[in-house]
Amino acid sequence: MTIPAPGAIDCDIHPALPGTHVLLPYLDEYWRAHVRMRGLERDNYNAAAFPVNAPINARPDWKPPRGNAGCDFDTLRTQALDGFGTKFAICNVLHGAQAIFSEDLSAAFCRAINDWVAKEWLDRDPRLRASIVVPMHSPELAAREIERCAADQRFVQVLVWEMQEIPLGRRQHWPIYRVAEQLDLPIGIHAGSSYRHPPTNLGWPSYYLEDYISWSTGFAGVLNSLISEGVFVEFPRLKVVLMESGVTWLPAWMWRANKTWRGVRAEVPWLEKSPAEYAREHVRVTSQPFDAPPNAAMLRKIIEEIDCEDMLMFSTDYPHWHFDGNDALPDGLPEHLLKKILVDNALKTYPRLTS
Ligand code: ZN
Repeated sequence: MTIPAPGAIDCDIHPALPGTHVLLPYLDEYWRAHVRMRGLERDNYNAAAFPVNAPINARPDWKPPRGNAGCDFDTLRTQALDGFGTKFAICNVLHGAQAIFSEDLSAAFCRAINDWVAKEWLDRDPRLRASIVVPMHSPELAAREIERCAADQRFVQVLVWEMQEIPLGRRQHWPIYRVAEQLDLPIGIHAGSSYRHPPTNLGWPSYYLEDYISWSTGFAGVLNSLISEGVFVEFPRLKVVLMESGVTWLPAWMWRANKTWRGVRAEVPWLEKSPAEYAREHVRVTSQPFDAPPNAAMLRKIIEEIDCEDMLMFSTDYPHWHFDGNDALPDGLPEHLLKKILVDNALKTYPRLTS
């Protein structure tokens, strides 16, 4: 179905750094000298999973006259904001900073990226909001960065990769969830990996084809971990947003998770509800790429099986190439659900979007 839709909230767009050198003014004196000494500003640190010229990562008509897709403000404003009638759009900067092994260097780059996105993007258009980039492998530094950025109400979420050093539910991460819950910030979990481990269950793959397809199984593991470890019991107000996870795997995951939980629930006595119930209450999913079935009847059946009208939220994933023209949602979504997907569910998920 063709968008624009008045007041639509786009929960996943990707402004891109033209290069690491643009972060130099946003680093403090020590880190600026350190980066220059090592020559790091000459590397781009684009996340390895997103080769800039691969068709999936840069829709041909969304490339700016110069530079990589997502780098040019005027192009993004015209195409991603004006083009879809967007009221708010959440900027998720995908960058290798979050995967750097040194916790201090990773934190320094994350701080610089957050300040860069505030100055170079948020200040230039009142429709833009952003996620806070954090060094997830250093929970103490990550929590500190969340608190620092949260003073700016235009930061509405915390951004992390789905695949980290350890599963996202583990208690090592809980200081991050504690501060996020206190500050009304959902945890936005984006497709991709910090590549501490093979992204498939079988070992290291050879091709992007294998890597990309395996991401949906990674998201299932994320939900298994968050729910089993009791994250939503400890943090009852916390929401997580799965970005680029796809949608249609959810009913099968819910069935398997519930069935298995009934058999081994004695080992997780803190769970007061089934995994599917926790997911419906705490988990939200962005719409692109929407792995929609080939006809509207099948799509409606899957929506029925998910059995929660609050879970789906609109996204374009600009400038990544998942659809042509403005066909940003599949045909056949129930009429009453469209407004929820386009507007209402995001407003309920992101308390800061009202300001
Ligand atoms: Zn995305």
